[in-house]
Amino acid sequence: MEDLNPKIKCDKCGSENILSNYVFATTKVCGLEVDYLTCPVCAEKFVFLLKDKKQKAILKQLKALNHRVEVKHRLNKPLSSGLLKQLNQSFRESKDYQAGLRAEYLQAVTEQLNKSDFETNS
Ligand SMILES: [Zn+2]
Repeated sequence: MEDLNPKIKCDKCGSENILSNYVFATTKVCGLEVDYLTCPVCAEKFVFLLKDKKQKAILKQLKALNHRVEVKHRLNKPLSSGLLKQLNQSFRESKDYQAGLRAEYLQAVTEQLNKSDFETNS
């Protein structure tokens, strides 16, 4: 079972806090939509998810597939192997694409986020 409120250790100050203690926000940096968390102790900002057009499209597809799975669950209907395969593929695609975005933009985005003059209006 996945822990829905895991503890996250801040890379900057080393404090450990549960996820819900972090401030979660979205902003635009480097032409990307960025979901980020702010450490409740030292206010360092951490990138949670980077989103460009393609990432958003993949996430949307993933959400739609998840929804179809939920509906089948609710109706007590068996899941087709095709649907499960699609879900797996979409999940992997999302993860891989996110890894690519992070490799390319994570450093620049993190620097921008943590500039003292950065405005946090989204
Ligand atoms: Zn911190």
